[in-house]
Amino acid sequence: MDKAELLRLDREHVWHPCTQQKDHETLPPIPIARGEGPYLIDVDGRRYIDGVSSWWVNLFGHNHPRLNRALNDQAGRIAHHIFAGFTHEPAVELSARLCALAPNGLNKVFFSDNGSAAVEVALKMSFQFWQQSGRPEKTRFVSLSDAYHGETLGALSVGGCDLYREVYRPILLDGFRVQGPDCFRCPYGRNRQSCDIECFEAMERLVSEKHDEIAAIIIEPLIQGAAGMRIYPAGYLRRLRELCDRFAVHYIADEIAVGFGRTGRLFANEHAGVSPDLMCLSKGITGGYLPLAVTLATDEIYQAFYDDYVSMKAFLHSHSYTGNPLACALAVEVLNIFEQERVIESLHEPMALLESWAPRFEALPNVGEFRRGGMVAAVELVQEKETKTPFPWQERRGLCVYRSALARGALLRPLGNVVYFMPPLNTPLSILEELLGIAYDAIVETTAASR
Ligand SMILES: *Cc1c(COP(=O)(O)O)cnc(C)c1O
Repeated sequence: MDKAELLRLDREHVWHPCTQQKDHETLPPIPIARGEGPYLIDVDGRRYIDGVSSWWVNLFGHNHPRLNRALNDQAGRIAHHIFAGFTHEPAVELSARLCALAPNGLNKVFFSDNGSAAVEVALKMSFQFWQQSGRPEKTRFVSLSDAYHGETLGALSVGGCDLYREVYRPILLDGFRVQGPDCFRCPYGRNRQSCDIECFEAMERLVSEKHDEIAAIIIEPLIQGAAGMRIYPAGYLRRLRELCDRFAVHYIADEIAVGFGRTGRLFANEHAGVSPDLMCLSKGITGGYLPLAVTLATDEIYQAFYDDYVSMKAFLHSHSYTGNPLACALAVEVLNIFEQERVIESLHEPMALLESWAPRFEALPNVGEFRRGGMVAAVELVQEKETKTPFPWQERRGLCVYRSALARGALLRPLGNVVYFMPPLNTPLSILEELLGIAYDAIVETTAASR
């Protein structure tokens, strides 16, 4: 199919995710032919550095020899089979190894096939746990302002990004939303050095008042991704764990974006040394090859469902592609790569490189902050530096950066006025440097007009 025909048929029949389709009139989608390590390569042979890991999923680059082999090997055995009443080695090995690597106490793995589903599973497990544990009044969920946990109705209910949820508000679950950490515009007038996690008081107040109604608190540990890569201290998670213990509330960690090395540790909760009661993983779990998600649970939660069939306590949730063998085989190989290639240890250099660009970005007149959390970094653009006044959202500054970066050979898909970097973990340093340079030039170009 030639490019013109491809784009014509795309316009006629394809509805793209998270997109105002009319934008394609001026910026049509880019047809990708293949990938190679850190690059996406379009049908004309143009290369784009994948600065956002293709929406946060890719860990080790595209067209990875080891992952290709793992996929092919498994395809030569079986691609998929029913996972109720049947089981298979990739799922069993993956489960055992994830439980060994996960924070202490998470000992059971429930499979699904995307992050939103893993969140739904966690919410339903927590709710049903309390129904079956003599506390049926504990039915509501607590989440943070600007949180993102996915797009299905349950996941959207615990989300806090109005952009994604406002129109659906009348059909969402009625939960509690707490003001979350905002270290760039700290309402307590602190900065990252002087912070004593004052903002936790909002959570403390709500939970100490309403714990009788609360099943669980769901959080994105350390980095609120879709909120604009808001990075907050690990101490918040320690306080949260204590609070949950004090008031018998589940702590659900949504590590869908931050898991698998993004924060510089395998899982973000390691920075705080705490264990959640339920943990959701997806995105990087297959290295960005196939959809797969898991919800890890403690034995205590599992035991509340374990009884004779007639007790009607089972967790009767399922998806057709639960435990897909191809995806599980890839996930096992991802863990092999982490172990054999000492991936976590190898992150020091790229993390230092990201950090070294902070002064350059922060010297720009329209950059309010350069923040970093492990292998994730973000530049927040502001109209006025002193007051941290944002650019009006209608100006779509982020989109301007996106276009400019594409023309320079990089994929950066900003979140509003936040330009962020979430590259594959093994992006070579020279390419990472090039990516940062492209972002810098794109920001200079797109903010020049405002002065
Ligand atoms: C992406 C994401 C989800 C949703 O995962 P999908 O696979 O896109 O449904 C949930 N939580 C967080 C923190 C995410 O970043």
